[in-house]
Amino acid sequence: MKALFTAVLFVSSFTLFAQDIYLHCGAILDIESGRLNNEKTIIVSGSIIKSVQNGFVEPSDNATVVDLKDKTLLPGFIDMHVHIEGESSPTRYLDRFTKNPADVALQATVYAKRTLMAGFTTVRDLGGSGVNIALRNAINKGVVDGPRIFTAGKAIGTTGGHADPTNGVRNDLMGDPGPKEGVVNSPEDAKKAVRQRYKNGADCIKITATGGVMSVAKNGQNPQFTEEELRGIVATAKDYGMLTAAHAHGDEGMRRAIKAGIKTIEHGTLMEEPTMDLMIQHDTYLVPTISAGKAAAAMADIPGFLPPVVAKKAKEIGPVSQRTFKKAYEKGVPIAFGTDAGVSKHGENGKEFRFMNEAGMPIIDALRSATLTNAMLLGMENELGQLKKGFIADIVAVETNPLNNVATLENVVFVMKEGKVYKNP
Ligand SMILES: [Zn+2]
Repeated sequence: MKALFTAVLFVSSFTLFAQDIYLHCGAILDIESGRLNNEKTIIVSGSIIKSVQNGFVEPSDNATVVDLKDKTLLPGFIDMHVHIEGESSPTRYLDRFTKNPADVALQATVYAKRTLMAGFTTVRDLGGSGVNIALRNAINKGVVDGPRIFTAGKAIGTTGGHADPTNGVRNDLMGDPGPKEGVVNSPEDAKKAVRQRYKNGADCIKITATGGVMSVAKNGQNPQFTEEELRGIVATAKDYGMLTAAHAHGDEGMRRAIKAGIKTIEHGTLMEEPTMDLMIQHDTYLVPTISAGKAAAAMADIPGFLPPVVAKKAKEIGPVSQRTFKKAYEKGVPIAFGTDAGVSKHGENGKEFRFMNEAGMPIIDALRSATLTNAMLLGMENELGQLKKGFIADIVAVETNPLNNVATLENVVFVMKEGKVYKNP
């Protein structure tokens, strides 16, 4: 986080002599109050919002004016769960034997750009091969266009668990991956794996607390870490200032993760009511990833798209996520917006707003989860998630008031990140 802030300062001092940009906004949706404020001007100086003024203010010098007089403006969206390196495809399981890191990296730049163009100016990447770390750095340097990335690097699992990279592989290729590769089998391994992620340049920690759908393994929901291992992960991550996320479908695995102090539960698909209470008690956030549940269920219906062992799990678990989200939201479980894009398609992250709303969450609350809540979880609540003086200029625009038409969030027409315009109607 500190490194990122330095990068921002660097960019802003670099662009000190650049002209201000005046955005003439038909309306700005104030995320905090839920009010729509008509006819405003946002003045952007370098990477920062310098001020927000009433009416359409004309610059006195020859600063750039962007006409968004018939658009509604919002802070850039934050997705807490993507896998920027890849995307589901029938060759996904073969790809790891045929693609070099450079192939993965080149493809990842395309996904990153798609994500940014969809209005997602910040993402948390929850697991890949390590290309995600290089991609984050390239984006921060301005080499590649993409969202600001907070990445877990490689996810941490247990032997044969959801994040064991050699699941389903021929015996002689399996080897015995350890903490360095993100596979742990004791509290000591767990601590080493976290320290290794830190050393590799990860920003946060992702573990796979239960079985998962997309891995070539039979069980999609069993607990896969002991409580001692989980405590080792959380304590070490805390020492290094890293936010922790646990993938979990089954109830027992998520209970253990919540009790150990993991901050976000990803998917939470088969969460039972007492566990929802536990989430509230521990101030643990659910990242619902309804998009992934729907995408997995749809892929399972296409013959040959998924290996049979995966297709079976996708059919069972996929359709449940939206129902569980509805229950959890109604019960008062804290919700952080996240899609699991990579399972679903990159650039379609905005669909999650509609899926959340279908399950009974008011559109403004879905938007708050993708801005205020996620900025807070990333420790950036004074810099991201709002259109206010002094905040980083991450700004998007849509055609109509999203509070009357949630689908407009799937069609972002203007994107600015750190004061730079990437998409303009
Ligand atoms: Zn995921």
